[in-house]
Amino acid sequence: MTVAPQFQHKNGVLHAENIPLPELAHQYGTPLYVYSRQALRDAWAAYQEAAQARDVLVCYGMKANSNLAVINEFKTLGSGFDIVSGGELARVLAIGGDPGKIVFSGVGKQAWEMRAALEAGVKCFNVESEGELERLDAVARELGKMAPLSLRVNPDVDAHTHPYISTGLKENKFGIAIENALDVYRRAATLGNIQIVGVDCHIGSQITEAAPYLDALDKLIDLIQSLAAEGIHLQHLDLGGGIGIRYTDETLLSPRVLLDQVFKKLDSHGLGDLQIILEPGRSLVGNAGILLTAVEYLKHSPAKNFAIVDAAMNDLIRPTLYDAWHDVEAVQTRQNTDEALTYDIVGPVCESGDWLARDRPLSLQQGDLLAIMSAGAYAFTMASHYNSRPCPAEIMVDGYQAHVIRPRETIESLFQDESVLP
Ligand SMILES: *Cc1c(COP(=O)(O)O)cnc(C)c1O
Repeated sequence: MTVAPQFQHKNGVLHAENIPLPELAHQYGTPLYVYSRQALRDAWAAYQEAAQARDVLVCYGMKANSNLAVINEFKTLGSGFDIVSGGELARVLAIGGDPGKIVFSGVGKQAWEMRAALEAGVKCFNVESEGELERLDAVARELGKMAPLSLRVNPDVDAHTHPYISTGLKENKFGIAIENALDVYRRAATLGNIQIVGVDCHIGSQITEAAPYLDALDKLIDLIQSLAAEGIHLQHLDLGGGIGIRYTDETLLSPRVLLDQVFKKLDSHGLGDLQIILEPGRSLVGNAGILLTAVEYLKHSPAKNFAIVDAAMNDLIRPTLYDAWHDVEAVQTRQNTDEALTYDIVGPVCESGDWLARDRPLSLQQGDLLAIMSAGAYAFTMASHYNSRPCPAEIMVDGYQAHVIRPRETIESLFQDESVLP
């Protein structure tokens, strides 16, 4: 069994749904991102089921994977979107997404981005500082509009995740410290072009237990009650994203288990009517994709065995950036049981940090295909052109059918807009 149900070995060959991966490698080349449409749907269904009959709006945290085919799938399923830039807004509008289901997050919103979002008519701005609040009011006034506002509060809880993806501690740059939130809401209530609609937090990513969410929720409930005592009534409570996925053997927090406890807490405080917003990214797409790569060389040095592959840190930066683990599966399991060696899987980029996996027991030959698992989230969207490497193609598999949802970039496209001095 792999970590992803839609990527399984059948007769010794790893498939994406019903398509053998060697076929895709042959047709489209490597490296190649391969996604499963069914995996997106299944991940969505877990949130649907968790919502039960309650008023829950799931806003896909699209920075995890913003390909139009991916966001269009979620749009069709009824999702809203959590955006963090004017660029992501443009993507949602390009597929005809409903702006009324967009929440706009991010610590550094520029005036043009606020303008674009106000003109589109987004559901809400998740505001992260007093300076941003004042700017939002000014921009809305220029446009003669009311800006719907939720403050992103930093509840100072430890999400027990990697420091780079933890966002809810008081030393993080994100959100407004919980002890200052009441004052900032009071200020917001005096501004002519701000309409207070909610409260928001997002405490981190790859979270595998409910406790940090519930700790944050307790603090938000206190805040909501203090606000109500001053006549400020909220329509929604946004708990952010952050639910983890199984990269290897992590225990999982299901949306159902989390929401059941959230509903119970809210009901016990008489807040059962609040709309709940969630902003899941990774948990909707992470295990719906793999990065398919070919072994170029095997290199045996006295200290290490290296499998040098054609994918690199510029295609998947998570290992070197976060010390993240991605399972590595041989696409074709060998008939002859060559003894496995312990390999570091590395790319061709000129950096010692260019590694994808370390110390993996594998039986390999030059030319073999490997699948780097769990590459549906924060893989393509964090890709770069370092070393003048064009981005791989992205393929979405639907049953027996493969769709190119973004072709492999050409080398010429990397420098076609550059020019030399006269
Ligand atoms: C990144 C991000 C998300 C999505 O996080 P995941 O861990 O991928 O679920 C949601 N909300 C905000 C504000 C974010 O920055």
